[in-house]
Amino acid sequence: MKLGVIDYIDCAHYLPGHDKCGSLHGHTYKIEVVIEGENKSGMIIDFAELKKSIKEALSFFDHKTLNDFLDYPSVENICEAIKRKLGEYISFPFTLRVWEGQGKWVEM
Ligand SMILES: [Zn+2]
Repeated sequence: MKLGVIDYIDCAHYLPGHDKCGSLHGHTYKIEVVIEGENKSGMIIDFAELKKSIKEALSFFDHKTLNDFLDYPSVENICEAIKRKLGEYISFPFTLRVWEGQGKWVEM
């Protein structure tokens, strides 16, 4: 069974050498986490517990300039970095989809 949570972070970034995205600007990133687990006694995990873990992991990125810890903060690289961090907090297999603004996302 799958269970999903959505959260949001606001970040600044620029893509060095990129025509359009080379200047510092910001996005609201929509973060979709879908975990997979068994329904044991009515729950896979308590939503409140999962949301708290995700919020903690995302606090490393929220209201930060992503270039401070990523050489090239494309949404692909951001997704990988968030996936690694979430992995420290979530003990289920999970899928992560990161939306950069509206209409653009990557998933892993
Ligand atoms: Zn951008």
